[in-house]
Amino acid sequence: NPPAEKYEYQAEVSRLMDLIVNSLYSNKEVFLRELISNASDALDKLRFLSVTEADLLKDAVDLDIRIHTDQDNGMITITDTGIGMTRQELVDCLGTIAQSGTAKFLTALKESKDAGTDSNLIGQFGVGFYSSFLVSDRVVVSTKSPKSDKQYVWEGESNSSSYTIREETDPENLIPRGTRLTLYLKRDDKGFAHPERIQRLVKNYSQFVSFPIYTWQEKGYTKEVEVDEDPAEAKKDEQDEKAEKKKKTKTVVEKYWDWELTNETKPIWLRNPKEVTTEEYNEFYKKTFNEYLEPLASSHFTTEGEVEFRSILYVPSIAPTNKDDIANPKTKNIRLYVKRVFISDDFDGELFPRYLSFVKGVVDSNDLPLNVSREILQESRIVRIMRKRLVRKAFDMILGISMSENRDDYEKFWENFGKYIKLGCIEDRENHKRLAPLLRFFSSQSEEEMISLDEYVENMKPDQKDIYYIAADSVTSARNTPFLEKLLEKDLEVLYLVDPIDEVAIQNLKEFKEKNFVDISKEDLDVGEKNEEKEKEMKQEFGQTCDWIKKRLGDKVASVQISNRLSTSPCVLVSGKFGWSANMERLMKAQTV
Ligand code: ADP
Ligand code: MG
Repeated sequence: NPPAEKYEYQAEVSRLMDLIVNSLYSNKEVFLRELISNASDALDKLRFLSVTEADLLKDAVDLDIRIHTDQDNGMITITDTGIGMTRQELVDCLGTIAQSGTAKFLTALKESKDAGTDSNLIGQFGVGFYSSFLVSDRVVVSTKSPKSDKQYVWEGESNSSSYTIREETDPENLIPRGTRLTLYLKRDDKGFAHPERIQRLVKNYSQFVSFPIYTWQEKGYTKEVEVDEDPAEAKKDEQDEKAEKKKKTKTVVEKYWDWELTNETKPIWLRNPKEVTTEEYNEFYKKTFNEYLEPLASSHFTTEGEVEFRSILYVPSIAPTNKDDIANPKTKNIRLYVKRVFISDDFDGELFPRYLSFVKGVVDSNDLPLNVSREILQESRIVRIMRKRLVRKAFDMILGISMSENRDDYEKFWENFGKYIKLGCIEDRENHKRLAPLLRFFSSQSEEEMISLDEYVENMKPDQKDIYYIAADSVTSARNTPFLEKLLEKDLEVLYLVDPIDEVAIQNLKEFKEKNFVDISKEDLDVGEKNEEKEKEMKQEFGQTCDWIKKRLGDKVASVQISNRLSTSPCVLVSGKFGWSANMERLMKAQTV
């Protein structure tokens, strides 16, 4: 027998194990969710790779997960027929941390000061393989990758800084492919080996796993057995022949053990939307995307005709914490399936434009080839049609939030994703009509609560033609600008553009419902108050004053003019019609620094 080799964990792993054990002690059962999710990932990987390498499936075993419990010995065995691990992969995957779910957990721990007390929150994160030590003294992972002709055994103990790897030699333990994980439960946790408890946990945690999960269950069937007759009874029976026959047999229950299918494997998106509850959609979202907050909205739909696909889309309730994400469309937010086979979640704008990259969801198509590659995705007409439909559905879903009775919902959306919508105004001309109604701004008549462009238009004066706006760095400075005076006097509403990107977004839109956006800080603002006689008079009276001021200021200003745009301030600095507004200038400066 080749000897077992001993390895030290990467330092972070030991720390992580301590953290897991200390913060999740009251939520131990998550170990099962983690191990099942790993098994399911391994099956997904195998199924995906086998599309191009049919050889991987040569050991014809079903793709499934089996959980065996041994109550007497306090053991649980979880077996999958997935991709397995080579010796090197065992070292890389189970001795170091570079994995997404685990990394997310660590970040969350750092952010939450009293992680120890809020174990519930942390229980929602994927904490991965090491959670097996929450309930186990010893964990044995026996695994066979189709890439290797040998099977290897990884063995680790709780509270140890090292683990071992050896080759599997016992013919009894050989598996054709995949991974078998054996947990030797701690004394106080042996209750997890109760078959009914495991069954309940599987039902609770793994209702969306798309591979069959079998648990080892005691079953019974009834059977008739003959019994000896009681002489007294026999006498009575002489009078009743029918009864006599019955009395001679008895029904007993015969017990035996067998695998029982424990989960529903039909993916939620294939079900009839009428039969899926909001709770189920939300659960699916949380499990699929490792989220702990409910989504703000969801949309489940099927498209037919030219291209057929099914999809469930979600709007998360908070923006990604990583601020760079707005410019980064690679979010792993859309999971693409082809005929239920998971293909990829690694997209770069193929299915959604980058400003909608915050939308999460699953898309399942029957029209794409299973071995769809990046190139196919980029060039496929089918994908282009899918993208168009998905984008429309996403807009419908967001519009739905804005129409919700609960105004808070859209406020929340806007707070988190307003920037993305504004980015859309700049980048996606084609969808201006869908984007514009989603915008929100403060205004001279609504400084506390943001209004929509529709609300602005409804509030326009009968003879008002344009939509007025002023860009400033805050509501207060917008309110105090002298440009506003005349408009306030005439009771005209002015939008306050207080986010630097607002002005660019509005300028890209150009118009809304055939009304132009007009910057009130620009020269020659016309608020419908031309009095040519009076203007002439003023020009004569103050013409020289203007010339004198221009001379004194020289190149600092382009011109000095008489204007009727103010009512109480004596003068104002305005931007030229074709120049940058003061705000834009500030923005450009900020960007070039
Ligand atoms: P994560 O699942 O977030 O990647 P885990 O700690 O749960 O992190 O697992 C670490 C890695 O170990 C996985 O990414 C995978 O490569 C490997 N692994 C775990 N369980 C299995 C399994 N049953 N079959 C194959 N590989 C596995
Ligand atoms: Mg995992």
